[in-house]
Amino acid sequence: ATVKVNLGKDSYEIEIERGLLDRVGEKIRALTKAEKIAVITDDHVEPLYGERIRKVLTEAGFDVRVIAIPAGEASKNMKVLSDVYDALSEFNMSRSDALVTLSGGVPGDLGGFAAATYMRGIPFFQIPTTILAQIDSSVGGKVAVDLPSGKNLAGAFYQPKGVFIDPDLLKTLPTRYVHDGLAEAVKYGCIGDRELFEIFEALETEEDLEKHIEEIILHSVLQKTRVVEEDEFDTGKRQVLNFGHTIGHAVERYFHYSTFTHGEGVAIGMSLLTEQTEKMGLTEKGTASRLIRVLHKLSLPTSIGVPAEDLIPQIMHDKKRRGKKITLVVLKKIGEAELLTISTDELSRYIVTE
Ligand code: NAD
Ligand code: ZN
Repeated sequence: ATVKVNLGKDSYEIEIERGLLDRVGEKIRALTKAEKIAVITDDHVEPLYGERIRKVLTEAGFDVRVIAIPAGEASKNMKVLSDVYDALSEFNMSRSDALVTLSGGVPGDLGGFAAATYMRGIPFFQIPTTILAQIDSSVGGKVAVDLPSGKNLAGAFYQPKGVFIDPDLLKTLPTRYVHDGLAEAVKYGCIGDRELFEIFEALETEEDLEKHIEEIILHSVLQKTRVVEEDEFDTGKRQVLNFGHTIGHAVERYFHYSTFTHGEGVAIGMSLLTEQTEKMGLTEKGTASRLIRVLHKLSLPTSIGVPAEDLIPQIMHDKKRRGKKITLVVLKKIGEAELLTISTDELSRYIVTE
């Protein structure tokens, strides 16, 4: 399938197809005049797919250099970015040469930021290799690195020239990351795509999941694309993508990013908030239990054993907070969300944990 992302002169296409990795050579060739291509990846992905990307791009006539950074969030920093700039210079890249990220969200965000800034911007392409990267980080044009004071604090909006999603690459992804990324897909279903949510409700086995993964990716990419098209620079409507994230980030931070992955935090955030808004009459009856059933099926957590008060200081830390106001994303029902701006004094009504 092909999804067109309409952003004026920054428009591009996202292709989703099994086996696409072995066909990206001609596809990238058709989209760029580059002679050289630098591939940014990490040292887990390079041994798995490095040779294949080298071969397919070389056969398409490119001079190829693969740059593998150490795997993991700890690499998404200025030091590693600086090493990547050095590698690009050493490869004698010019402004018309291109960069490809073949990776999860960490090298994807860092490589994208390198592309946005090296020589004031060179063309780039994404080949995302985790579920999270395929349905979330590679869509929308946000690129960044972390600073010691917080995540994604140095970044840019910089759209790729093309995104190539090969669901077969997920076969090597460890299960915890599969489930982690799917939390975001459940989120897309909740906020705007009831049909996607119902695909999850109908899943019975892990093999079912494998069978439906392409469909889940397509629904998710379409949902994120629609939101991004309406609000490319994240000034309003894009906030709906934060469903589950205000509490989710607080949960991640409360445990010093060591206990729960991002998707697990989001799963907890979506559940705690929806249980509460349902009790308050803001959400259709039965929604929270449907959501929790789906998340459990994906081995995702839906609660934590700490009192709500303990999370509030972490929420006050949220970079999305504006003074004494905070905007929560609340479900009206499965497939429909709305933004609700409340005073931070009211927060404890919205997160009750026992
Ligand atoms: P990641 O890139 O660290 O990948 C997770 C792990 O999976 C790594 O160990 C990686 O080496 C490994 N891996 C990747 N692909 C593999 C494959 N096919 N087979 C086997 N192992 C594989 O992390 P992630 O979860 O993909 O992304 C998280 C990052 O994404 C965070 O830094 C987050 O801030 C960012 N993010 C960005 C956006 C955005 O809009 N730009 C949105 C959401 C998240
Ligand atoms: Zn998220």
